[in-house]
Amino acid sequence: MSSNSTSILPLGDGPSFGFGDRIGTATPGHVEAMRQAGDGVLPVFAQQSIREMQRTARTPEGVMRDALDGMASAGWSAGTGADADHLKTPADVDTTAAVGFRLFTLDPSAHVVDAAEAAEPDQLAGLVAEAGDEAAVWLADRMGTSVQLDTGESLTFDPEACHRAVAKLGRAVEAAIALGHHAVAAAARHGGTAELELSVDETETATSPVEHWFAAERFRAAGLPLRCIAPRFPGSFEKGIDHLGDRAELLTSIGRHAAIARALGGHKLSLHSGSDKLSVYGPLARATRGSFHVKTAGTSYLEALRVAARRDPALFAAIVRFARARFETDRATYHLSAQLADAPDPAECTDATQLEDAYLGRWSEVGEGKGFEGLGRQIVHCTFGSVLGDEELGAHLRALLRDEHALHTELLAEHFARHLRALRP
Ligand SMILES: [Zn+2]
Repeated sequence: MSSNSTSILPLGDGPSFGFGDRIGTATPGHVEAMRQAGDGVLPVFAQQSIREMQRTARTPEGVMRDALDGMASAGWSAGTGADADHLKTPADVDTTAAVGFRLFTLDPSAHVVDAAEAAEPDQLAGLVAEAGDEAAVWLADRMGTSVQLDTGESLTFDPEACHRAVAKLGRAVEAAIALGHHAVAAAARHGGTAELELSVDETETATSPVEHWFAAERFRAAGLPLRCIAPRFPGSFEKGIDHLGDRAELLTSIGRHAAIARALGGHKLSLHSGSDKLSVYGPLARATRGSFHVKTAGTSYLEALRVAARRDPALFAAIVRFARARFETDRATYHLSAQLADAPDPAECTDATQLEDAYLGRWSEVGEGKGFEGLGRQIVHCTFGSVLGDEELGAHLRALLRDEHALHTELLAEHFARHLRALRP
């Protein structure tokens, strides 16, 4: 990892795209996608959340090394961002800072109070009191004021919206600020400069404009380098399929969040679970005027499974059977609509193509309105940790990917070039 310091770039305020790689062999395919369609986009080849590292028995050091080695073998010398994703503890920050990660995605979701949105007045007052002194100062300054956004809309800080924002996010924001200070110090100890992302995307309720304003203003007051905010947008952002929900409401929300980000110093909007959300990309790129970040994570694994489907159908069928057996357990930490009944048992499929279509058919190809065929991919998506951790299946799949490196690279390039093209405003 000697080239760390020269290869790791700041995310900056332009377009950027995160390619998570669960297995560690996908970077050459990500590089190829960048060559085909990534003009003007900063790639983040090194990106993995702590949760996903635990599920795949990988370390921050291994994730970084695999990304840098993949870049070198593919001849990519233009550098990469490095995103330590969904960090929850100082220890998470320390281990990732030590190996060169410089974007620290702070995830205070454990401190978010989703119930604040519907809380009764006295419960709400209690939650506001628990949010602490800094939040109380913010409330005193902001309540009753309004600001004009550059879209012509004005944002009014009415007392109830302010109280609910503080009740929901107050403790979470202070926890993220503490972790952010820790990250700045940790990066400096390792001779680097931290950038921070505040991620509240994994909450139950959508992030309101007032909540966004509150969080960003607190980060600014704390003197922290806020690079991105990942709001929870309305509708659902499930793994492996496009956005579900009211499109007009989503576009309004993106437009407001983008204007708030500009008004508070120009942090970027970050879109998580970005794989396959192609219908959202154009609006996101336009509303943010190119100041956005997108993260994808699990669909590189799906393209690895496609290699198995095409080159070793017996292995793919075994993985599908195993995934179906694990599904009800492994789905617990993901937002998914899929049910086992949405995809057939391998025994019911007459050929390998049918099985591939049932489990790896892309939503955008299957098409919304043609039923829920595209949901089969969620069954294999959320079970990656179990499959990769299974001694026989994991080893077999990894060996196949070594032998079929060219096909794996080609499939990844095709998948992600489609994503990168959709990001053009
Ligand atoms: Zn996320």
